[in-house]
Amino acid sequence: HDLRNEDLKDMQELGQGNGGSVKKVEHVPTGTIMAKKASITAQHFLSHLKQILRELQIMHDCNSQYIISFYGAFIFDPNICICMEFMDKGSLDGIYKKIGPIDIDVVGKVALAVLEGLTYLYDVHRIIHRDIKPSNILFNSQGHIKICDFGVSGELINSIADTFVGTSTYMSPERIQGAQYTVKSDVWSLGISLIELALGRFPFSDSSSDDSDLSDFEGTLSPSRPGPLTLPPKKSKEQKDKKKKRKSKGVSLQGGGMTMSILELLQHIVNEPAPRLTPEGRFPKEAEDFVDSCLLKDPDMRKTPKDLLQHPWVERSKSATFDLEAWASTF
Ligand code: ADP
Ligand code: MG
Repeated sequence: HDLRNEDLKDMQELGQGNGGSVKKVEHVPTGTIMAKKASITAQHFLSHLKQILRELQIMHDCNSQYIISFYGAFIFDPNICICMEFMDKGSLDGIYKKIGPIDIDVVGKVALAVLEGLTYLYDVHRIIHRDIKPSNILFNSQGHIKICDFGVSGELINSIADTFVGTSTYMSPERIQGAQYTVKSDVWSLGISLIELALGRFPFSDSSSDDSDLSDFEGTLSPSRPGPLTLPPKKSKEQKDKKKKRKSKGVSLQGGGMTMSILELLQHIVNEPAPRLTPEGRFPKEAEDFVDSCLLKDPDMRKTPKDLLQHPWVERSKSATFDLEAWASTF
């Protein structure tokens, strides 16, 4: 059955992303509740139509408990609308912002679900997610964890809108430096996301304040995608200090005494040691080790999602009897 906009009744706004909005809707003829994502002018998409259709076909063919189900898509001028499974507990960023740092046992289940989802996408469909972050990991009251927004269209939306979004801050060092995207870049993004969930804050933000959270900010930095980024060479400490005193130009967020522009953040990701699950001893050793192996800066050293499914912490999560459904009922 084909989906039509006339058959969808808006119920609630779920969120705004870079490319458009996501709404909870009812498909009136069947009574099915769905999430409808409307993005950016269809006009822009026409030149990429083949790629878009290919991706929609893949979404349609996906059949995994770790991947959001796809109901259908249509063009409702000027938007392209994608209808998918509605997840009633929303995304994990919304959850930790509401309830604070997420229990490490739950974070272990998230790692397991994302690795399973990524392995499915790659093994069965040969696709790389490319946009792993807490807002693309969804949760429902049955305790299911699923990933959404994979493939090329997110990337297309960004290149078309020519804006640089928070997404970039989950980007791996090799990707920032223009290397080919691989499944291992998703592993990096997973590592950053897990720290964010366990600490209840974005790992590159100032520990004393939430205001300096750089994960959500939006700004322009063009030309940005899909080509590689060129970064200025690493600055000496002296230069950095000077830079700090200067009034920051362009995109920056301030708060908690920290000011970092997007370029500084990207430089930081490339040049500084990767973030870790800290303080030491607060989390199980195995969890620390798992995150460390996701955040190996050299992609050749970093494991694939499939390999990481064998990691002791993930193995332990597989057999853990933690009741996610009960946990879901607490918020
Ligand atoms: P982003 O992922 O960058 O936040 P999106 O436009 O993809 O931007 O999504 C906006 C918000 O809508 C997400 O943060 C999420 O909370 C919510 N959302 C997206 N898809 C669903 C879904 N299938 N079910 C429930 N909520 C969703
Ligand atoms: Mg999203």
